[in-house]
Parts: sequence; C-alpha cells; structure tokens
Amino acid sequence: MTGKPEEYAKKRDFLRTPEPGLDEGKAGDRPVFVIQKHDARRLHYDFRLEVEGVLRSWAVPKGPSTDPKEKRLAVPTEDHTLGYKDFEGVIPEGEYGAGVVLVWDCGPYRNLREGEMSMAESIEDGKVEVWLEGRKLRGGYALIRTGKGEKARWLLIKMRDEEADAARDILKTDPLSAISGRGIEEIRRASEG
Ligand code: MN
Repeated sequence: MTGKPEEYAKKRDFLRTPEPGLDEGKAGDRPVFVIQKHDARRLHYDFRLEVEGVLRSWAVPKGPSTDPKEKRLAVPTEDHTLGYKDFEGVIPEGEYGAGVVLVWDCGPYRNLREGEMSMAESIEDGKVEVWLEGRKLRGGYALIRTGKGEKARWLLIKMRDEEADAARDILKTDPLSAISGRGIEEIRRASEG
C-alpha cells in the first residue's frame, strides 16, 4: 500500500496552508517517527509513525514522558502525508490546525513486535511497541488501546528499559525544535517576516 491520505488532503487548502501536499516526502532506508509540538487552540504534541507510506498519527495533549508510570492519552488523528515529517511552520488562521508547528523530535524507529506482527497489524491489534532512536526520546514506547467501541482510547507509555527516567521532565528541559533549534515564538515571528 502506498499511502494517499485523502482525509488529510480534504481538511486542507494547499493554496493557503504551507503544509506539504500529498506527493511530498520520500521513504528512506528505515521507517521514521516524528513528534511535532503544535501550538494550536490548545498546545499538544502529535506523535507520528511512518507505516506503509503514510504517517499514522495520534494527538497527545500532555506530550510524551520518559517515566514509565505516566500514561499519556493519545487521540488517533488522520494519517498524514510522509512529507509532514519535516514540516515546521505556521498554519494560518482559519485553516485546519491553525497555529505553530515545531519538529520536537524525530528519528528512525524499530517495530519491537517484528516477526509477530507488522506495524499496520499492531495498530489494528491495539498494541504498538516501538524502539525510538530520536534526538531526545530513546528506547521502547508502547501505544496501547484500552476499552472498546466508543469507549476505546489509546495511551502512550514509556516502556521499562535502560532509557526510562522518571526524574526527567523532557518537555520542559528540551522545548526547542530538534531540527532547527527554534522555539514556537521564533517560528511564529519568522513567518510574520
Ligand atoms: Mn496537531
């Protein structure tokens, strides 16, 4: 399957938003993850995993944690085009997701259930386990679906391994972009010219 995230395209007017169109972005040797800090109506973090040509996506209101005891709500959102992994900028007022987007972390990942289930199957199964090799986040992370039907919800949880650190508050200590070193306000100002 080569992803054509139609819902992604439907929600956006590419004449108005600087977000990437459907044909941007190429797959590399290894699948990647990206976590975007998104200062929209409410600040949140978007967790995305490259799976079969698209970025499967969850919005995480409180962002990721390095503490295995923290279970962070992760709300599934529409698949994003692969080119989105490099997107940093300002979505204009009136457009879907209006606000500032910053690439908070990115890097390759491994499917820890490889051999048992593909990534697409893991998501279907409601149990995703990946090893992140980010610039900030490293080690195992699980996305777990609990409950059924309308009550189903996903949780993002740090797995217990040598990269876990309950004492760290990484969202506070490392707030800037992993690719440009910029903060939210700097990106906002740059777009105002
Ligand atoms: Mn978002």
